[in-house]
Amino acid sequence: MAHTYFELIVPRPRRARIGVPASITSRMGMSTAARPRRGKQIPLEPARVHLGRRSSVSSPLRSRTPTIVPVVKRYDAIVIGSGHNGLTCACYLARAGLEVLVLERNPYIGGAAVSRELYPGFTYSNCSYVCSLLRPEIMRELELSRFGLQVTPYEGAAVFTRDGDFLASYTDPDANRRELARHSPRDAEAYRDFSLEVRRHCRFIKPLLMRTPPDPTSLKPRDLRELLELGRMFNDLGEERMYDTIRFFTMSVSDFLDQFFENGVIKASIAGSGIIGTALGPYSPGTAYVMLHHYMGEVDGHIGSWGFARGGMGAITRAMAQALRSLGGDLRTEAEVERVLVRDGRTAGVVLAGGEEVSAPTVVSNLDLKRTFLELVPGEELPEEFLRRVRNFKIRGSSGKLNIALDGLPEFPALPAGCPARKGDLHFVDSVERIERAYDDWKNGTWSRDPYVDLLIPTQTDPTMAPPGKHFMSVFVQYVPPRLAGADWDEEQRAAFADTVIDQIAQYSPNFKDLILHAEVRTPRELEAEIGLTEGNIFQGELTLDQLFFNRPIPGYAQYRAPVKGLYMCGSSTAPGGGVMGAPGANAAREVLRDASRSTPRRRPFPPSIRQRPAPPPVDLAAE
Ligand SMILES: Cc1cc2nc3c(=O)[nH]c(=O)nc-3n(C[C@H](O)[C@H](O)[C@H](O)COP(=O)(O)OP(=O)(O)OC[C@H]3O[C@@H](n4cnc5c(N)ncnc54)[C@H](O)[C@@H]3O)c2cc1C
Repeated sequence: MAHTYFELIVPRPRRARIGVPASITSRMGMSTAARPRRGKQIPLEPARVHLGRRSSVSSPLRSRTPTIVPVVKRYDAIVIGSGHNGLTCACYLARAGLEVLVLERNPYIGGAAVSRELYPGFTYSNCSYVCSLLRPEIMRELELSRFGLQVTPYEGAAVFTRDGDFLASYTDPDANRRELARHSPRDAEAYRDFSLEVRRHCRFIKPLLMRTPPDPTSLKPRDLRELLELGRMFNDLGEERMYDTIRFFTMSVSDFLDQFFENGVIKASIAGSGIIGTALGPYSPGTAYVMLHHYMGEVDGHIGSWGFARGGMGAITRAMAQALRSLGGDLRTEAEVERVLVRDGRTAGVVLAGGEEVSAPTVVSNLDLKRTFLELVPGEELPEEFLRRVRNFKIRGSSGKLNIALDGLPEFPALPAGCPARKGDLHFVDSVERIERAYDDWKNGTWSRDPYVDLLIPTQTDPTMAPPGKHFMSVFVQYVPPRLAGADWDEEQRAAFADTVIDQIAQYSPNFKDLILHAEVRTPRELEAEIGLTEGNIFQGELTLDQLFFNRPIPGYAQYRAPVKGLYMCGSSTAPGGGVMGAPGANAAREVLRDASRSTPRRRPFPPSIRQRPAPPPVDLAAE
């Protein structure tokens, strides 16, 4: 029988108390009695029951004999959703002294960064499957390794072509150059220029990840300062690179690669990063940036590397949940938020499915833009123009996934024995054109008949995810539409989609089919139903320039605040976008704390990573 990997996480029992929260006073090294009350914290008043039924409590001041007053907790902030961004945000808020509660609708935490055991003995990374983007400053500051997070880089990748050949990539630069030269000596030389160019773009983007985007229409000193900073960074690029940078953000990945390479297989092997998770093809403008989005992470300081979280991607959110609890934060699963409470134009808390009210002056939504504002916030509380833009937010699902339990290691005869590339990403593609044809199917309202897959067998690196001798295979699939020619998926179609993917893999691995013990098949329909990702869009919204930087999620609302006072957004719909990165969660926490510090000047300063810092000076990469 299927059962979840995580135990249910229930709130820790708390001591009854009145007054300033212990989490604040203890961290200040003072007793509750000694601490002066701080503006926005819990008022000294008889407790109100707000979890479940309300009870009438008589004032202790009226009684001559001391009365024990049942104090029920009131929170400074509620975070809706325990995706990694919700947890990151909650951790930073708790770290700054706020009483925080995370409410998660599923019986398990993690959103799209989750590990689950759906077949006995096997741990699946059900959605996200590899780690690179998670900001190292967040890992450090939340001490995620202390809470068990370990990320192991994996080696290389391989592309299999229809003629039985392959193109492998290796971490060893000499082996890599030799392999590229086997396909095109000219491209082997060009690869260095390509790498330098990508790294230049990464250098430009990375300092922006942990910053709140400035509002270009605002005259506030902070926005002007940020715009100036951005201008300085841009100016530092130099005249020629300024042009290149602007072109890059609007180019297709295909056009970008044509500038460097001539060989179709080499181009196809890189182009895949430009279409993962997006409803665009490799010839579509904007996909060069999507490629960059997949290159700007790191593992252990190795820029662009990807790795496996030991125990699956749920290890990340599990470590975050433990960090949150160590900071005094609470987390409830099976607590679906049905509505955000708005009173007198400001947030007052949330109502859960079943009617329970939980109050807090600050509510932060980890859900995507559409789900937050079209489902949870009463429409009459939102400006019409805002709602119009929310409805037009591009959040088209294009991805599916198969998680497969295997009885042994599948063979890929095209690869030489012992080739380390088999431990990395495997793809079946010969040309950029072939990926574009896969996209054509999506446009025609069906799954790709010859899909682009990103296949990995993490158990070759992390044996904890399957019993000895067995393996877990993660198969990310592009393109899969949220609806089939306008109609909902049915079970027969879902099975046919799985067959398409399995048949494709079997063309390159003769013993693969015989090894299959179990497969979890996920179309955008399952991604939406289980995690709440609208249309199953893995990034909570397209990563195109019209929806990036100060336009993410929509113009005028890139600073994590909603049009309702006290309501904030922290999910991947916000800047800098999707992927298991944590930056939206940390940035949103900074804005919540900034607002809170206006009324509580004593609040602890922002932790270093979420403090807005100047960008580093430019580096001459060619000289490195
Ligand atoms: C199939 C797939 C593969 C991917 N692969 C990778 C990868 O390998 N590497 C990578 O870096 N990124 C990958 N991504 C992208 C990445 O996983 C997501 O962008 C990221 O995890 C989103 O995190 P989040 O915290 O912003 O939101 P989410 O993870 O979407 O979290 C939102 C949370 O809110 C909860 N929720 C929804 N409605 C309610 C409600 N009403 N009340 C309470 N709770 C609610 C949900 O259950 C969920 O836990 C992948 C995503 C998918 C779907």
